[in-house]
Amino acid sequence: MFHKIKFPGCVNQLERIVSFQRELLNFACSSSASLPITESQLKTEFGDEIGEWLWDKLWTKRKSSKKAQSKLHKALEKLIRYIERHSTMSAKIMDAFDHDIQFHKHLNDSNFNFKYRRELSLTVQKVVKALLTVFYTDLLASGFPSVIHGQSQKFNRDEFISSFWSANSKLAVCPACDRPRSPKVDNKVYSDADHFFPKSIYPFLSVHYANLVPLCLDCNRSMKGDRDPIDDPSKEPLVNTFHPYTNSAISQVDVIVSRDQVGKRQVRIEDKAGMPSRRVASLNRVFKLEKQWLDHLDYVVKSTVEDVIEFRRRLTRVSASNFVVKNTDYFAQL
Ligand SMILES: [Zn+2]
Repeated sequence: MFHKIKFPGCVNQLERIVSFQRELLNFACSSSASLPITESQLKTEFGDEIGEWLWDKLWTKRKSSKKAQSKLHKALEKLIRYIERHSTMSAKIMDAFDHDIQFHKHLNDSNFNFKYRRELSLTVQKVVKALLTVFYTDLLASGFPSVIHGQSQKFNRDEFISSFWSANSKLAVCPACDRPRSPKVDNKVYSDADHFFPKSIYPFLSVHYANLVPLCLDCNRSMKGDRDPIDDPSKEPLVNTFHPYTNSAISQVDVIVSRDQVGKRQVRIEDKAGMPSRRVASLNRVFKLEKQWLDHLDYVVKSTVEDVIEFRRRLTRVSASNFVVKNTDYFAQL
């Protein structure tokens, strides 16, 4: 990630939401979960208030009287069913979760590796991913009740985005690409909440405060998408990646604008620590910064040249018309 950014003021709320996510995962992995899931089972596990709210989230609101299972319900059932058949995986899943959510404390640790990818089989990854992804898409989008995050009003994704921009009010650009930041309409900034480590590859980080960054719509949807900032998970993955919040690129790189041998403009990002640099290569691979900035530079130079030509044309026209006016005045005096 390029620009230096500050953590939003809602870190504490998000930490509590991660704790609740852990409770839900632990419930699905425990022997106390049984199918079908019932409201009383949830109330016993999470308390009356959270149990009632969660029960409501397990059903879709349909106009017809018949309710249908929500995606969260299906994902929760799938994991419970899997653990019923493979109970030994339970401890492994929880150990990997507890390990991976500490990633932000190991950014300088060359030995750190995400256990989700290294130690869980693809089948386990799939059932876990379904639950934790929908935890973000459905629950953070619609919001969590106060009893979970501790704030008086509802907390949801828009609250996170608003909290981020309040903490970073002086940053006028997108933290990743340097384009103007997303527009603000009625005090709401229309940014996407990007997962720096994509939730499709690192679902344990789907609501982690150190993994969520509001980016411009172009960055999140067109440029970055699900691209993994880690180039090689087996070789010191974290120390070879610029990270938002605590290890941004801006003070560690030089951006060099020059011309090549045939006079063509070029933009290069060079690591002050020396090249070749895996972290610079990843920055370019994920956000295509050199290409984006070269395209923008070409556009600015082209439009500036066009503006100068147009200005000169207008100036010539004005000078000519002044000449006509002067001559008309002269003839009027005769
Ligand atoms: Zn951007």
